[in-house]
Amino acid sequence: MTDSKAHPLTAHVAIIGGGPAGLMAAEVLADAGVSVAVYDGMPSVGRKFLLAGVGGMNITHAEALEPFLGRYGTRRPQLEALIRNFDPAALQAWIHGLGIETFVGTSGRVFPKEMKAAPLLRAWLARLKAAGVVFHVRHRWFGWADDGALRFATPAGEIAVHAAASVLALGGGSWQKLGSDGAWAPLLAARGVDIAPLQPSNCGFDVNWTPFLVDKFAGSPLKSIALSFTPQNGETVHKRGEFVVTKHGVEGSLIYAFSAGLRDAIAANGSATIHLDLVPDRDLERVIREVSAPRGSRSLSSHLQSKVGIEGVKAGLLRECVSKEDFNDPLKLAHAIKSLPIKLVAARPLDEAISTAGGVTFHALDEHLMLNALPGAFCAGEMLDWEAPTGGYLLTACFATGRAAGQGVLDWLASQP
Ligand SMILES: Cc1cc2nc3c(=O)[nH]c(=O)nc-3n(C[C@H](O)[C@H](O)[C@H](O)COP(=O)(O)OP(=O)(O)OC[C@H]3O[C@@H](n4cnc5c(N)ncnc54)[C@H](O)[C@@H]3O)c2cc1C
Repeated sequence: MTDSKAHPLTAHVAIIGGGPAGLMAAEVLADAGVSVAVYDGMPSVGRKFLLAGVGGMNITHAEALEPFLGRYGTRRPQLEALIRNFDPAALQAWIHGLGIETFVGTSGRVFPKEMKAAPLLRAWLARLKAAGVVFHVRHRWFGWADDGALRFATPAGEIAVHAAASVLALGGGSWQKLGSDGAWAPLLAARGVDIAPLQPSNCGFDVNWTPFLVDKFAGSPLKSIALSFTPQNGETVHKRGEFVVTKHGVEGSLIYAFSAGLRDAIAANGSATIHLDLVPDRDLERVIREVSAPRGSRSLSSHLQSKVGIEGVKAGLLRECVSKEDFNDPLKLAHAIKSLPIKLVAARPLDEAISTAGGVTFHALDEHLMLNALPGAFCAGEMLDWEAPTGGYLLTACFATGRAAGQGVLDWLASQP
């Protein structure tokens, strides 16, 4: 990809942000014969998309559409029509059209066959360029000039770009070094656009661990456990999975699955307590029997290890969270093994999160994702006010909203005199 210093005054539509949402909007427009320029502040586009591919990218999920749509929680009403218009099946067909095979993992998550994002992005960018999309990297958008032109900081200085319409697809506020830093929020707010505060989603949490636990177990994965949490005014949710004990607290897929409710509970109450079942395959009666069995001259630790399978970080957590008296009471210890309370005191900072909650509210947009306050300017992707768990739901909504914004621009251009 090359830098362009030319002022693309002829560009009909400016897409700002070359992540999955912006690129999808560009594709819709280019396919319709509209001239499109994509601007991105970074030296290359799609950096977060590439990172998402590093540990095995879930691009969507193969579950039935009804539960799939339910993953968007309170934003389902706003996203449903857009996702039905480009649903997981359509998304997979689109990926296949780029020559990338996909497979469904045991969890139902859909992955590119090579598990990486790079081949897909390469093929997609080649197709976009062939369709006439022009890319301007190292172009950082920072607002509008008085005459409505888009202002960019570039290596050659500031430029102003006049476009018939624009799509802002600027991402959330996490992993700032990859280009999405949420700096758009005050720019849009100053123009009267309603923005819900950006917050971490799919994030880790702080726990006030003792230095001993950090020293011995930071970085240790907790596997084959179940987590229960009761969100505010909600029913208790149990889920099996795994997470990692970190020097700050806890992180990993099982924690991320609960992160929205945990974050909101901490905001309301100052802390949130999760309960861990350290041996979900054994019922409480069995654990009571095993813990209470005579242990002869064996230490309690080796008894727990041989009888209940509690060792390593699981044993460390028990010592950390159970008082000495309760530890020596077999009944109380058995209950703790099946339901160990851990108090989370804060969400980790936004920059560390997988994704961002909050953003441009749906009240600020019409049904085509055009900003009510700024006719001709559309928004798409993670910068909109929705959140979803990991598992392909994030990218699916980014693609779907990018597509909707592209189609919205087409309709809007057609409606202009
Ligand atoms: C570690 C990690 C793993 C993930 N794994 C998955 C996964 O497996 N499955 C899944 O569904 N999702 C995953 N995600 C989330 C997914 O990557 C994002 O939701 C998605 O990339 C958001 O797409 P977007 O187009 O809205 O924004 P982004 O991909 O963030 O793109 C926004 C673009 O806008 C540019 N930009 C921002 N501000 C400006 C500006 N002022 N001027 C010019 N350009 C600007 C940025 O440089 C960037 O290129 C993961 C995220 C992370 C961090």
